[in-house]
Amino acid sequence: MDDARLTRYARHILLDELGIEGQERLLAARVLIVGAGGLGSPAALYLAAAGAGHITLVDDDRVELSNLQRQILHGMAGLGRPKAESGRDALQALNPDVQVQALVERLDESRLRELALAADVVLDCSDNFATRHAINRACVAARKPLVSGAAIKFSGQISVYDLRDMDAPCYHCLFPEADDVEELRCATTGVLGPLVGMVGSVQAAEAIKVITGMGEPLVGRLLSVDALRMQWHTIRFRRDPDCPVCARRGPASAASPGG
Ligand SMILES: [Zn+2]
Repeated sequence: MDDARLTRYARHILLDELGIEGQERLLAARVLIVGAGGLGSPAALYLAAAGAGHITLVDDDRVELSNLQRQILHGMAGLGRPKAESGRDALQALNPDVQVQALVERLDESRLRELALAADVVLDCSDNFATRHAINRACVAARKPLVSGAAIKFSGQISVYDLRDMDAPCYHCLFPEADDVEELRCATTGVLGPLVGMVGSVQAAEAIKVITGMGEPLVGRLLSVDALRMQWHTIRFRRDPDCPVCARRGPASAASPGG
């Protein structure tokens, strides 16, 4: 690590739990961030600042004036531009040490799986259930850790689905896919700006922990925040043995079918 890097990342390197070794892992890491909006903004900024070496930022949307109340990756100069490209420029300006790939795409399942396979960790910073379930399926198939965040009105949630571990629950174990789920969208219900900053920042912290192997990620735990009362809660949950998405993986110790 050269002097410029030692200086830039000094406050991380000073942490015993992270150190030079953890910083080297960050610099070599490949991170996939789906969504360059409210959650993706702080998540991507903190990961780029931390020197996460390769960031792929995916969003097919363009920056609108109503985004700027909370999507801090973008500014006035980005209005009308694709969020992935506006975001890439902001991340490169913050840290030229990081390689950022901007994808202005709506990802189908096979493309998601391909991108998940190439990543060390995936951050779900999307804003709808269909995308969340598609990202989960891709991460289960690719066996990649998924850091999931959500925020609406004054409520936020974060969890980590470490799908490298056969016994760890997936997103579907906790939130089964159903046709009758009423979806709340920020566009119609509103969301407190700093709330997405809190949730996205926790996602960045969890991603750094997954990459470096330090601490205890939010695996099997759902962290929720009520920003109106500023109360945080954690609930524990287990893998659903009948989950249609991850159950067929079977526990690591189970015999393979027919074998
Ligand atoms: Zn599952």
